[in-house]
Amino acid sequence: MRERTVLVTGASRGIGAAVAEAFAAAGYRVAANYNTSGEAAAQLAQRWPGRILPVQADVADRAQVEAMFRQVEQQLGGVDILICNAGIARQELFTDVSVEDWQRMLDVHLTGAFHCCQCALPYMLRQKWGRIVTVSSMWGQVGASCEVAYSAAKAGLIGLTRALAKEEGPSGITVNCVAPGVIDTDMMAGFSAEDKAALAEETPVGSLGSPAQVAKAVLFLAGEETGYITGQVLGVNGGLVV
Ligand code: NAP
Repeated sequence: MRERTVLVTGASRGIGAAVAEAFAAAGYRVAANYNTSGEAAAQLAQRWPGRILPVQADVADRAQVEAMFRQVEQQLGGVDILICNAGIARQELFTDVSVEDWQRMLDVHLTGAFHCCQCALPYMLRQKWGRIVTVSSMWGQVGASCEVAYSAAKAGLIGLTRALAKEEGPSGITVNCVAPGVIDTDMMAGFSAEDKAALAEETPVGSLGSPAQVAKAVLFLAGEETGYITGQVLGVNGGLVV
């Protein structure tokens, strides 16, 4: 069997970069998608010569996603494993959310996953094998104050995951979701050291999570042996949401 090809969206930094590196270390061929952080994606690829290919696309843009899939198919072969991880965050009162910000949140998280899954599925269906893992959030499970748009987009992603798992199960394709808790990445840049310490204290295991810990869960759900797990939401949250 040839090496599997993985496409990880939002892989220039944070959780996505850790996921890309975990797959590369496990011997997969990895396409690491980025939107604006070309330099960071290039550095990631340099650390894994011949293993990680940086590919640019705004996942919210259908034409760019289609072009990205064509590029990956030409350079690495068809995408066997898709990780929908790209995301943005914004904290503000619901009453202050502009129509544009609401739409962008849904476009990146939910429509982005829709575009990527639709582009990935024809090849997976031909192979009668595929793995899709979406990266939601514990806020998509329980909701967060001042992150209503984010929580709604992430809850939508869980709905997409569960429904698509039912539709694609007969074709040998599993669709699962990882729902991280508080993970120490750039997305947490707006939080002070005190805020982070308070969040760690609130967490049953007593710390924030790392991108590598999320990557382990993603790698597991994308594995050869996990074909009987589908439609599931796996929390990686230190016990904050059970
Ligand atoms: P991060 O460090 O801010 O990285 C976000 C990544 O998403 C970057 O690689 C960024 O690429 C990419 N991205 C953003 N918009 C994109 C777009 N339109 N098209 C393609 N790529 C795009 O965030 P993170 O913490 O690693 O988060 C990764 C995922 O985990 C997100 O879906 C996030 O919602 C979820 N999550 C994070 C936490 C947490 O506590 N950190 C908790 C739960 C869930 P560029 O820099 O190139 O734009």
